[in-house]
Parts: sequence; C-alpha cells; structure tokens
Amino acid sequence: MKAEIIAVGSELLLGQISNTNARFISSQLAELGIDVYYHTVVGDNPNRLVDSIKIAENRADLIIFSGGLGPTKDDLTKETISKHLNKNLVLDHHALIYIEDFFKRMNRKMTENNKKQALVLEGCTVLENKHGMAPGMFLSTKTHSYILLPGPPKEMEPMFQFEAKPILSKLLHNESIIKSHVIRFYGIGEAELETEVQDLLHNQTNPTLAPLASDGEVTLRLTAKSDTEEEAWKLIDAMQTEIFNRLGKFVYGYNNDSLASKLRDILVENNLTISAAESMTAGLFQSELAAVSGMGQALVGGMITYTEDIKIKQLGVKETTIKEFSVVSSPCAEEMAVRVKEKFGTNIGVGITGAAGPDGHGGQPAGTVWIGIAIDDSAPVSYKLNLSGMRNTNRLRAVKFTIHYLIR
Ligand code: ATP
Ligand code: MG
Repeated sequence: MKAEIIAVGSELLLGQISNTNARFISSQLAELGIDVYYHTVVGDNPNRLVDSIKIAENRADLIIFSGGLGPTKDDLTKETISKHLNKNLVLDHHALIYIEDFFKRMNRKMTENNKKQALVLEGCTVLENKHGMAPGMFLSTKTHSYILLPGPPKEMEPMFQFEAKPILSKLLHNESIIKSHVIRFYGIGEAELETEVQDLLHNQTNPTLAPLASDGEVTLRLTAKSDTEEEAWKLIDAMQTEIFNRLGKFVYGYNNDSLASKLRDILVENNLTISAAESMTAGLFQSELAAVSGMGQALVGGMITYTEDIKIKQLGVKETTIKEFSVVSSPCAEEMAVRVKEKFGTNIGVGITGAAGPDGHGGQPAGTVWIGIAIDDSAPVSYKLNLSGMRNTNRLRAVKFTIHYLIR
C-alpha cells in the first residue's frame, strides 16, 4: 500500500507553523509497514486542493488529509473532497450530540457554523474526536482510501492512533500481518552503520530495514510481513541476529528505550544514586535524566558551576588545579565529579567542563570537553571529547556521551 499525506493550511505555506502532522502520521504508517511516498502541503484553496488530490490519486492508494475540518470559512477540506468524489455531506447525529455536549460542558454558546462540523462524507466511517469537535473520516472507494483528520495535533494524534490506525491494521490484515521492531545504536554514525549493513539494505525485501539518525544516535527499524505473527517475529529475529553479529557492541536498546531510561534502570536495579556538577552543559545532563519517569530514585541533585569562581568557592575545586591545568582539563573534571559526589552524598558523581563553541575556552579549542566520573571510593576517571558541532549540538553530545559511558 502506497500512501500520500496532504497537509492543508495556508499557515503552513506562510511558514507560521511546521508540518509536524505529516511527520507524526508518517512515523505511525512506518510502524504499520505502509510506505509513504509523498508529503504534500497545500493552502486553504479548493482548486489547488483538488489539483493535489488528483495528483495523489495517480500515485497513492491511501491519501491522508490533515487540517481544514473546522467551522470557519477557510476550512474547506471535506467540502472540497465531497465535490471531488461526488459524495454528499450528511449530518452525523452522534457527532452533533457530541458537539452540543462539548459546548454545554464549556459553558459556551453554540453557533450555527459549529453544526457544520457534524457534517460528514456519505458512507464514511466516522472517527471520533475525543479532544475537540470536528470528527475525522475514513472513506473507501473502489480505487482509494481517504482519511480526513483535524489540524490541531492534540486532536489529530489520538484520533489517528486510536481511531484510524485500527482501521488501517484491519485493512492490512486482509493482506498480511506486519510487525516492526527498532534497534537503537550509540557510538556509530549513520554512514558507518549503513556501510556495515550495506548488503542487507540492498537486498532487503522482508524484513525491510530503515535507518534513521538523530541527536548522535542511530536507529534501525525492521519491518516484517507474513501470514502469521509468529512468522513475522521469526523474520525479525533472524535479521536482528545478523545485525547484532556485526554491530552488537553499538546496540544500547530497543523500541522505546532511551539512553536515559537505560541508565535509570541500571541505577535503580543496583540501588545507586547520582549527582552532577555541570559547567558547559549547565543542567542539561540532569534535565535529560529527569525527562524519564522514575529517575527520582537515583538522581539526587547537582550544581551548575558555570564560572571558575563558583567552581572554586561553591563546589570546592582547588584554585591551583584550574591555574595549573586549565578549567577545561582532566583534573578539573575529575575534581568536579569527586566534590559533587561528596557534597550530595551519592554513589556516582559526574563533572562536565568544556568549550561548547563557537569560541575556545580555558585555552582549549571549541568542542573540547572533559567528562569526569567518580564512583564510590574508586579513583576518579575522565574522558576527553573533541566535538565539531554547533554549540548546542556539542552540549547535547557531551550529555549523551556521559550517559552512554555510565550504561556501558
Ligand atoms: P480547527 O477546528 O481548530 O480549525 P482544523 O481541522 O480546521 O481545526 P486547521 O484550521 O487547518 O485545522 O488548523 C488548526 C491548527 O492546527 C493550526 O493553526 C495549527 O496550529 C494546527 N495544524 C494544522 N495543520 C498542521 C500540521 N500539518 N502540522 C502541525 N500543526 C498543524
Ligand atoms: Mg480550522
């Protein structure tokens, strides 16, 4: 099945908002193993929308619309599709009751044009909108399937996941069962990973392999099709074993894992606590950890020690260390780690100091980072990174490296 996503809205073309809906829908379709060949963006203009639909019908089986289902004049998606497909708009009583209730609950007066939102394409399956008023629609003709979704992501996302996705799954089940699995890598670039599995990528049919890189991590999605679930997982397992043989040392997790969630699991399982003194990352390390639930059992706290003065006076790094070795140095990072560990009474102390860029710092070129780690009574250790990204990329890379070091 080939899909195309048509995002409707002049605000997208004016650059006022980004087309995050297409991104969300695409990632959901990838999970189902549906290939998305095109993303189209078109303004709130019926003629141009019809042009886009005609083009899409020539190159896709499934066409998904986002936006333009609201009550205002510029919301024209379903009216345009109604004319194009020659399907009447009919009142959906369920949707009307829901809209009336919505206004009652909000204590607001319902206007005539709000009723327009309860109109749906004749013969469609109505997709309930639990977070707004405009219902979505699924419609099948002899040749194509159409899904109409509202624009606001908080309405569109749950509607797609809980209303549209089951319909698509059923549609696909008539063909075959699709299972997908994500392997997460750290410490290897996308290009290097692709080189290592080039032959598999080239010959891929079942399962298919889709690499993706973001924020210094790479993922590989394996999607298998088969008549039975068991057989689909078998295909995925076999491919995973092959990939593991080649790249196992870079694998840190699967599916919804993150570096931080892996660290949390290890810390909590082993009853370990952690604190950090951060200079160039100024809290980003702790923030990244706090982004996963349950971290409170391990993350005790920490300090942002941005200036030399604060490192000395508040954290207790020796002035001579900074004078002798520089503030961006192994001894400074290690002392930061030891001091914060002592101050916060944790098992693990982390010290991060560096030159985020674009300028150098402490006599070191931009991108130089020293990460100090102190664990219980063992002698502290430190690692040097030479990063080449922009300022905030470097800050995030330093954080990810630190977390990855701790989970190894
Ligand atoms: P409403 O009932 O709120 O008018 P609608 O279905 O008519 O919903 P639009 O009017 O097209 O949708 O868009 C409403 C809002 O939804 C936009 O202002 C924007 O914030 C968000 N939105 C629309 N399309 C997208 C998109 N493709 N990606 C991300 N956000 C979007
Ligand atoms: Mg609207």
